[in-house]
Amino acid sequence: MSASIIDGSAVSKTILAEIKAEVAELGAKKGVIPGLVTILVGANPASISYVTLKIKTALDVGFKEVQENLPADISEADLLATVDRFNKDPSIHGILVQLPLPKHIDEKKVIYAIDPDKDVDGFHPVNIGRLLLGGDEVRFPPCTPAGIRELIVRSGVKTDGAEVVVVGRSNIVGKPIANMMLQKGYGANSTVTIVHTGTKDLASHCRRADILIVAAGVPGLVKPEWIKPGSCVIDVGVNRVGEKISEKTGKTIAILRGDVDFDAAKEIAGSITPVPGGVGPMTITMLMKNTLASCKAHLKG
Ligand code: NAP
Repeated sequence: MSASIIDGSAVSKTILAEIKAEVAELGAKKGVIPGLVTILVGANPASISYVTLKIKTALDVGFKEVQENLPADISEADLLATVDRFNKDPSIHGILVQLPLPKHIDEKKVIYAIDPDKDVDGFHPVNIGRLLLGGDEVRFPPCTPAGIRELIVRSGVKTDGAEVVVVGRSNIVGKPIANMMLQKGYGANSTVTIVHTGTKDLASHCRRADILIVAAGVPGLVKPEWIKPGSCVIDVGVNRVGEKISEKTGKTIAILRGDVDFDAAKEIAGSITPVPGGVGPMTITMLMKNTLASCKAHLKG
């Protein structure tokens, strides 16, 4: 039997509608609008397209959106001063610095300069620490892992006691999602294994997984015979494997593949995310969720 397809675009739409309704209520009852600043340095085309989508989504849900477009040759000191200005601005609840930054700027220094209480990307060490502590300590889970968890929970997949295998140990996906799934509580409480290039027998670990989360960046890495029948497969990988002409726009677009052999895997898994249209749309959505959460936390004081 074919797996049910976890439609990230649909889940994302539902969550954005929930956020929009909350933003309207917050405005009506408290007269407060969540504020997000997007800081873009230079004109990297991929960064511009990500930031443009973030701005559009923020405006769609009713946020105040401030765009700070800075020249590629801005000094590190001036960028840090910009971040500090928004740290002190009470109308801004979320600060997003689009990565990567130009080589002459120390990315770590910039991320560490963001007020952890406005770090809606969840990359500041304080927020990584809070994530590790779990429970009420968590303020801003990083957006892609938060989106993955949301997809799992909203698909009704049982996490309590589940064997979760995470392929990849990056700081932005593998490590945080593994930590989130092992926490005691709803939508987690799983037994988690993280595998990577140092793992001896990748296939044997994957075969045990009730929930397999793959974030390696290697197209088709996970073979169908590595998938446990009926399991939930979350494919985070986004790999450009070629180009094609879009039927809709007539423009050249990238052909994207995930880390899992989707066509074969969907005949074995119980549920699976497609690429594109699975995890991808959730990342920006969770950025909006974090910004709203930040606004509400600032209101509480
Ligand atoms: P990354 O920083 O390159 O990390 C990849 C991880 O996968 C590393 O831990 C690496 O192991 C492991 N790995 C690579 N090849 C492997 C192999 N053959 N066997 C076992 N483990 C292997 O990548 P990332 O930033 O986490 O991103 C992973 C993928 O997710 C990429 O395709 C990226 O484009 C995609 N992504 C999508 C979204 C989204 O949809 N919104 C967001 C973020 C990332 P080692 O540590 O041993 O090197």
